[in-house]
Formats: sequence, C-alpha cells, structure tokens
Amino acid sequence: MTKSASQPENLDLFANAKMQFDRALSWIDGIKVGIIDYLINPKRTLHVRFPVHMDDGSIRTFHGFRVLHNRVRGPGKGGIRYHPDVTEAEVTALSAFMTWKTAVVDIPFGGGKGGVVCNPKEMSRDELRRMTRRFVAELGDAIGPHTDIPAPDVYTNQQTMAWIYDTYDLMHPGKNNLAVVTGKPLDIGGSVGRDEATAQGSLFATQHLLKRGVIPGMESLDGVSVAVQGYGNAGATAARLFHEAGARIVAVSDSRGAICNDDGLDPTQVLAHKQESGSVVGLQGATKISNDDVLSYDCDILIPAALECQIRADNAADVKARLIVEAANGPVTGLADEILQDNGVVVLPDIVANSGGVVVSYFEWVQNLEYRQWSLEKVERLLQDKMYKAVDDTVDRWVALKERSDGNGSTATLRDAALVTAIERIASVVVQRDIWP
Ligand code: NAD
Repeated sequence: MTKSASQPENLDLFANAKMQFDRALSWIDGIKVGIIDYLINPKRTLHVRFPVHMDDGSIRTFHGFRVLHNRVRGPGKGGIRYHPDVTEAEVTALSAFMTWKTAVVDIPFGGGKGGVVCNPKEMSRDELRRMTRRFVAELGDAIGPHTDIPAPDVYTNQQTMAWIYDTYDLMHPGKNNLAVVTGKPLDIGGSVGRDEATAQGSLFATQHLLKRGVIPGMESLDGVSVAVQGYGNAGATAARLFHEAGARIVAVSDSRGAICNDDGLDPTQVLAHKQESGSVVGLQGATKISNDDVLSYDCDILIPAALECQIRADNAADVKARLIVEAANGPVTGLADEILQDNGVVVLPDIVANSGGVVVSYFEWVQNLEYRQWSLEKVERLLQDKMYKAVDDTVDRWVALKERSDGNGSTATLRDAALVTAIERIASVVVQRDIWP
C-alpha cells in the first residue's frame, strides 16, 4: 500500500472505514468470511422521499435515510444529520463507527445513523419542524425504543429530538416512548451531563491514556500544549475542560479561520468572542493563522473536533503533536494513519475518544425506561468508569498485539486494538446467538 502524497487518496468515508476494518481483521483469526461481510456492511438502509409545505407556499420534496448498521448487541444507536452534502456512504460509515463504538465501550447497543439532505441554515424553524415530523412519520416503526434510537448530530439539536419524540409518541399512544430518542431537553427526559458528555469523555480517556504511560514523559495534562480544530459542541467544550485540567490551549479554529497564542488562550473568552462575532478569529491578544496551521501546530496534543478526513496522506507528515485525540468521527484517513504511525504519532481513535456522547445517551435511555433522573455526580462517575475501562481494554489489547506481527510485518496501533476488541465482541455475540436459521 502506498503512502505517497502524490497518489490521489480515496476520501470516501466508508472506504476509509473498510480500510480500518480490514487492517483490524488481519489481527483476528477464525472469523468466517460470511460473518466478515455481515459485520462490515449495513443490515438495512431505508430511503424515504417526502413532501414538505414551505413558508412561501411552495412544496419541496426532501430525501432522507436511516442506516441500521448492526444490532446483534442491542438496538441500533446513532445520530441524525441535517446537511446539504450528507450522503448514503457517509451515513453508512458513521453507522459502522457507531456499531464499533458501542461495542468497544461495552454498552448494549448496535449502530445506526440517519440524515436528511437539506440546508438548515436556509430553513425557518417552522419548516424544520414540519420536515422533522414528516421524516419521523415516514420512518414509521424503523425507529423505536428497542429497535433503533436516534440522537442529535451535525445541525440537529435538543429541539429536533423533542419533535422526534413528540411525533413518535403521537403515533404510539399509551406507551412510555421517551426512550425512542436521546439528546432530548431535560424537561422531557433528557439527561444531565449529555451536552458535555463527548468532551468530558475525551478528557477522561486522554487522562487515563497518559496515566497508562502510552506517551513517554507525558503522564498528565499539566502544562501540556493542545491545539483544537473545530469550536462547536465537541471542540469548544474539550478546549474548556482540557484547560481546566491543566493544559494550555495554544491554537483553535472554526470554519472561518484559526487563532493561536503560545502563552495559552482562555477557552471561555474564545467562546464568548465566537458567540458575539460568529468566529474565533479576531480575539484580542491572539494571532490569526490558517486552518491548516492548526493541524501542523507545534504542540503536544492535537484534537480534531470538526469534520471527517481532515488529516490525510497529503498533510499527515506535517503533524507535530505526539498524540491525536479524535473528538470528531473519522478525522484521520487510512493512509494518514500509516504515516502517523511511522512518525511515532499516537492516535486515540474516535471509537474510544468520542464515545462519551453515546455512553451518556445510553444513561438517558436507561433513565427513560425507569422514569428516573440521575444526578450529575452519578452520570460523571459512571461515564468515568466506562471511559477508563474502554482505555484499559484498548491499551491492554495494544500491548498484547505489539508482541506479535499481523503476518504482513505491521505493528498494531491503538485503533487496531480498539477495533479488534469491538469486532471480537460483536462476532462472539453473533456466534453465541447462532443467528443463522
Ligand atoms: P458542531 O456543529 O457543534 O461543531 C463543528 C465545528 O467545526 C464548528 O465550530 C465549525 O465551525 C467547525 N468547522 C467546520 N469546518 C471546519 C474546518 N474546515 N476547519 C475548522 N473548523 C471547522 O459539531 P459537533 O457536535 O461539535 O461535532 C463535531 C465532530 O464531533 C463531528 O465529527 C461529530 O460527528 C463528532 N462528534 C460529536 C458528538 C457530540 O456529542 N456533539 C459526539 C461524537 C462525535
């Protein structure tokens, strides 16, 4: 396999997910070919096209889909994305990441993901509400508290989840339907701690990884310099929590540009500036740099928290950080993974690093089924337990894999280790359930 930057790289997210999966498989013996096919490809993809009455009196037909990737370990779980460029391949890859993530963090879910091709920035609240309600009606019983459970993703939020719950509840009267969707507002069954859960989980996972001595000489976050790509839910919260844990945030970016300050940025001030002006750029006391500069910034830890395929074959060699913490899903391509490994850069993979969000979604689901509301202290304690265990399982597996070769002369990465754990857990349930007729 070439690592040359001169070769055009396949940036299809599902192709990259398959590459990760195939790499992990080379460490596993004894899985039958038929099961391998079953584990990588989605169980079901549902396409719906439906009309919506727009504010100007016109009718527009929208295209939405829901991919149920796998549910042998429990109901499908994963967000719904509203975006003009969302594709079936992207959603399929994201649904596969969900299957592996729920397995490696060991919660009783499978993987799913959904999307509607639309531009929410150009739609009114009323149009979004009508589109969401109609989408849920079209999905019918494809979603449900025990079959496939949506959550927020890019450009969907608590309000979207409230509409999903309400529509589903109208269609299924007389039942406790709260658990059909997570990421809801607190007053209708949301969980405390869900908003911060992804970044909080990334912090717990990073702290535990460092304590395990994976990065020699960096046993804690004290004084460690951190660059963050993306300043939304995952990125801005991670910047604040890493700063509060003793790290120095030296560079951050959003879709409009990037800033840096080697003495350290105050993440709360950065967020206030972004909320006021629309971007992190222009903060007093910070120097403007380019978006690409953030990825190659001279720092100890890089947190990509924006989009997929950001660190690729053409820029991976420029990364100076010693550790990448994937708060985003799929930010590092398969070829970039190999270049980073050659250069000694450790990657804490997305299926571990950002799994805090789905872990607290699972806590929300449990609370909903029991008509309970837990305290923040309980949510954070249980989240910490889950993240530490996922890191321990991954590092232990990594140490074991490093003692042998995969047959192709490769050494294992943390991503290989996490995926091997996930695939083995899913395959084991497939075999124990004896799922074939
Ligand atoms: P968000 O929409 O809240 O924030 C995204 C941020 O990325 C915005 O600040 C945007 O300006 C920025 N951005 C977009 N393009 C950029 C570019 N080219 N360079 C720099 N910044 C850019 O989204 P989010 O919820 O924070 O999700 C971000 C990533 O984290 C996604 O990959 C998502 O799938 C993943 N993730 C999020 C959660 C969660 O609970 N929010 C959970 C797991 C994974």
